[in-house]
Amino acid sequence: MDHDFATENLTDKFDSYNLARIREDFPILSQMVHGKDLVYFDNASSAQKPRQVIDRITEAYTTGYSNVHRGLHFMSEKATDDYESARETVRAFLGAASSTEIIFTRNATEAINLVASSWGRTNLQAGDEILITYMEHHSNIVPWQMLRDEKGLVLKALKPEKDGTFDLDSFKTLLTDRTKLVSVCHVSNVLGTVVPVFEVTKLAHDVGALVLLDGSQAAPHISIDVKNISCDFYCFTGHKLYGPSGIGVLYGKESVLETMPPYQGGGNMISSVSIEMSKWADLPAKFESGTPAIVQAIGLAAAIDYINDIGLNSIAKYERELLNYATQMLDLVEGLTIIGRPSGKAPIIAFVLNCVHPHDVATIIDRQGVAVRAGNHCAQPLMNFYKVGSTTRASFAMYNTFKEIDFFVDALNLVRRMFA
Ligand SMILES: *Cc1c(COP(=O)(O)O)cnc(C)c1O
Repeated sequence: MDHDFATENLTDKFDSYNLARIREDFPILSQMVHGKDLVYFDNASSAQKPRQVIDRITEAYTTGYSNVHRGLHFMSEKATDDYESARETVRAFLGAASSTEIIFTRNATEAINLVASSWGRTNLQAGDEILITYMEHHSNIVPWQMLRDEKGLVLKALKPEKDGTFDLDSFKTLLTDRTKLVSVCHVSNVLGTVVPVFEVTKLAHDVGALVLLDGSQAAPHISIDVKNISCDFYCFTGHKLYGPSGIGVLYGKESVLETMPPYQGGGNMISSVSIEMSKWADLPAKFESGTPAIVQAIGLAAAIDYINDIGLNSIAKYERELLNYATQMLDLVEGLTIIGRPSGKAPIIAFVLNCVHPHDVATIIDRQGVAVRAGNHCAQPLMNFYKVGSTTRASFAMYNTFKEIDFFVDALNLVRRMFA
């Protein structure tokens, strides 16, 4: 099967995008899987890491490691400087006003739980409403259900339009003067829908609700400016942004974070402790109890530097072409239905193939070296909405190629013939 012509035509459009160099930066991409070249299309689940991140992690452990914020010795000062400079890198990446608004967490899940526990427990009362959507990841559903059950809250969920578009009209009708929090994804991890976060934030603020945006799938693809959006909280997770696992970020407006009690108690989050009482540390330490994920934060900053070097706009432009090409090619596969075609979507394609279980699809194409996700993608309510138990999901990153898409489509056609 020869798709070289189409492939070359498309890659020609990206003279300025140095795909070959980018691919060389990711050592794992030259691995063979089951004797085939690895085609990694499971990026929405976790992205691969460039050498720059791997090397920075090694460097930190090799030349600048100690615990932070404590020691009066050289290594501790260096580790503290690097950790705090990582916070500054994240601040700039999100467009936050101050690095005191950047809290390092374990991942996005912990960031959302932090808001539910700290802000939710102290500010919400029986009858108050939280508004989420059917396209949330379980991480942005379950913490609110737990809080609802504890406090007697009302949890409402907005359905998307059939094609996966965010339904702004229905959103307006679900907002009431009892809505205290709107917690929605910036980008859906299944549909790729980009939520109109400016309008959502404005409408929520108009009824006096705060806004939390889950940017786990947005951060790798869209430039973010929390000051401009004016959201109260924004979170993302490091491992989907080409960084290490074990590190995530919660941004919170200083005026909101100041009013919130600590999430967990322990070292680092206090200014003084006696047996009778403790005083909390200032932001952001108040929310970072215990020894943080020091090197993971430094690695995350290296990932952000790497993305900034290439430019999120160039990445987004290239990924959009990948998405368009993949959509065209998948539409030619007999019996294949793409779930969700909102306009301007992120490079994520969930689909079902007639009469073939997604687990079979994923397992069979894995033998061809193609890695995709099959399952409910931690979004069971959305699967129910579309009346599918599960889907197969291909999600693209800056290092994927048109040729890989051809290979993927060939592998799917192989599956189709096996089940014909
Ligand atoms: C992956 C993901 C999460 C959870 O990320 P963790 O790293 O598992 O905490 C939350 N929301 C969305 C939209 C995601 O894609």
